[in-house]
Amino acid sequence: MGVKNPWEPVQTVSNSQTPRQRRELHVKNGELGILTTQVNKLIDWGRSASLWPALFGLACCAIEMMATSADRFDIARFGAEVYRASPRQADLMIVAGRCSIKMAPVLRQIYDQMPEPKWVISMGACASCGGIFNNYAIVQGVDKIIPVDVFIPGCPPTPDMLLFGFNELQRKIREGIPNPPDPLKASGLKLVGPVGEEV
Ligand code: SF4
Repeated sequence: MGVKNPWEPVQTVSNSQTPRQRRELHVKNGELGILTTQVNKLIDWGRSASLWPALFGLACCAIEMMATSADRFDIARFGAEVYRASPRQADLMIVAGRCSIKMAPVLRQIYDQMPEPKWVISMGACASCGGIFNNYAIVQGVDKIIPVDVFIPGCPPTPDMLLFGFNELQRKIREGIPNPPDPLKASGLKLVGPVGEEV
């Protein structure tokens, strides 16, 4: 019978540490598991987990969007940290901020340059409905120009809200929910660019 060490710590796990449960080690025994799914579900899952947003901010909401990709909120956890400078390499447009009437044809052109399939998040009150700018210079909701999949309220929405909206978009993609109808195609209206050319 040994002598008990009087200096032995009475608590082996500090209060700030969460004791980890012992888990059975996975044993490789050569048996392969079986996973059944559908190809379109697998593709939708892959798309939802690797969205590439267009590098596009319009006003103060864009600051919150930038914070979302920084280390504190870290949108990379959801696979969307690769902001693309070219819309041809992006499949997600986050309309972050108010859109002026003059900017509307540019917004539409960038959207048209994005390859299919593509999705749009309207971030903030201004992008979604004009917000406090109920005047002749601001588009009263970008869903009049492009089809919007997810609207995020707030002025400005916090990065957490953008992440929640982003997760909702991921859910829509995984569940195969289609984009809403294109407002310009539905209405038959045309946008005219700043120098008069048709967009
Ligand atoms: S919703 Fe608020 S924060 Fe966002 S663009 Fe409008 S005024 Fe700026």
